[in-house]
Amino acid sequence: NNHITQRTNLVNVLWDIQKKRRFINKDDIAKIANEFDISKTELEGIISFYHFFHFKDAGKYTIYLNCSTISKLHNYHEVKKAFEDELGIKMGNTTKDKMFGLFKTSCIGLSDQETAALINYYPFTNLTAEKARTVVSKIREGQSLQSICDFPKDNIQYKPKDEKKTIFFKPFKMGEGLEQLKDLSPEDVIKMVEDSKLSGRGGAFFPTGVKWKFCRNNASDQKYIICNADEGEPGTFKDRVLLNTYPELLIEGMAIAGYAVGATEGYIYLRAEYKYLKDRIDNAIEKFKNAKLLGKEILGIENFNFNVKVFMGAGAYVCGEETALIASMEGKRGEPTTKEYFPVEKGYLGKPTVVNNVETLCAVPRILEIGLKNYLSIGTESTPGTKLLSVSGDCTKPGVYEIEWGMKLRDFLSLIGAKDPHMILFNGFAGECLSMVDFDREISGENLLSEQIQFQFKDPIEYAYKMSGVGLRSGGSFMVFNKSRSIISILKNVTDFFVAESCGICVPCRTGNFLLSRKIDKIKLGHGNKADMEEIQEWSHIIKQSSRCGLGKTSTNCLLTAMLKFPEEFEKLTQNESNFNGSFNINKATHNYDTIIQEIESTYD
Ligand code: SF4
Repeated sequence: NNHITQRTNLVNVLWDIQKKRRFINKDDIAKIANEFDISKTELEGIISFYHFFHFKDAGKYTIYLNCSTISKLHNYHEVKKAFEDELGIKMGNTTKDKMFGLFKTSCIGLSDQETAALINYYPFTNLTAEKARTVVSKIREGQSLQSICDFPKDNIQYKPKDEKKTIFFKPFKMGEGLEQLKDLSPEDVIKMVEDSKLSGRGGAFFPTGVKWKFCRNNASDQKYIICNADEGEPGTFKDRVLLNTYPELLIEGMAIAGYAVGATEGYIYLRAEYKYLKDRIDNAIEKFKNAKLLGKEILGIENFNFNVKVFMGAGAYVCGEETALIASMEGKRGEPTTKEYFPVEKGYLGKPTVVNNVETLCAVPRILEIGLKNYLSIGTESTPGTKLLSVSGDCTKPGVYEIEWGMKLRDFLSLIGAKDPHMILFNGFAGECLSMVDFDREISGENLLSEQIQFQFKDPIEYAYKMSGVGLRSGGSFMVFNKSRSIISILKNVTDFFVAESCGICVPCRTGNFLLSRKIDKIKLGHGNKADMEEIQEWSHIIKQSSRCGLGKTSTNCLLTAMLKFPEEFEKLTQNESNFNGSFNINKATHNYDTIIQEIESTYD
């Protein structure tokens, strides 16, 4: 037991070393492996798993420039060039004097303020080439990052006009929801959450009340509530806004969950990209402790003991999957486990654990506050309440929107000021591509079809007919693109993302996504043919069906739906029956692999 408990400190220890030395060297590895009683090989496997741990000096000032598709819509290329010119290094390197390191990273949760970068985890937003050069010179002058960074605006763009229909974005009185627990048993709370039909707002939509009930029914001396604040889905940033604006609401939601299931400890697993929010959250926890709304016998309720701590992630999209997140907290590689047990049976440290998204937990005190009846009167029958959507891309008003479930997609596009919308990446890279045939569908969980049906359509007309009354359920990411954008380049960004983020355990996910990415290269370069299109379809379904976790199961959704709805984009690139011989026509005698990749990448710039 001691051994396991000690391992829970491993990621923290690695953070401390990374912060002090800017990388983790061989001596550190030998020492930590010895202290934690694990092999050096295993430890190296853990360190290499996370994007933000380095084996080489990453510079006194480490710049992570967001290279995701929305950043590229804005000033990514000119900002990258400005940083490279100013620092005299190429992306992925550290300056000779070890002052600066320059790295690219995927979505950092600032899609409403792109192009954005983190420098030593301080956010810098709306970057231009000029601003990038100014930032570097200010750092060289010795100005502190804290004084020159751009703490992100909350950027709440819209909430329902009727105050009674607002769940999240309205004043919150700390302790109001907790007070009500004096008159409610844990079972009453679970019943209320079940009746509210609240479901996992991170995108999985598992019924929250059912999850809590399972956890409550598993007797144990210790249970945990974990808030999944690893908001890594590209294009999503609504949890960032909640964490920044309403951390108290989240803590209260966690305490109510603890009361309901009988857990005494809560953790907020905060993605490293949101490290700048940690102080804000810690301060809110302190406020709760000072008000005696955390700790022992909260509000005098017998056996209601609960505390909350923040656990820092270290950069891994797959840790948004609950079993991977738990593995990460236990000091292992954040790899999803097989579903032999669910976390509510054996979760963190083998104890029953509830893992809920930030938005889900924030909804709970509000349901208590406004009452079940009022809550059920908002939204649609299957999806009562409101939903937070993070909007970015080709629109005049990017930001976070609180909408009542049931709004028509067409109305939402008008609300955000979408400019000539052509394709929407709905629900992030794990979601799907929407086109004008979807514009009259509503954003809700009504009349949903099974995944098998949804991703099997081959004929766009049949799709449009069968899906017309089917709701669109989103975890929160909404990226809109107009006609001038290259769909194939966007899909390249999607497939590359999954290549980088696959944990590698399942062969179909690890190699399949890599091969799909190469197929996209081939098509983009004009070498694709019909056989490639068929293979993309076939492999996409294999990856979907044979992957262990949600990452693999959803990684090809965008590709499949783009091929269905935008066939012309592929047809124009695969018209010629190619005499492609598998070598991209590049003379291998003079080109090494890196050069080939650079040439391919330059076609997307
Ligand atoms: Fe890892 Fe991909 Fe398998 Fe998920 S599907 S466990 S990310 S290899």
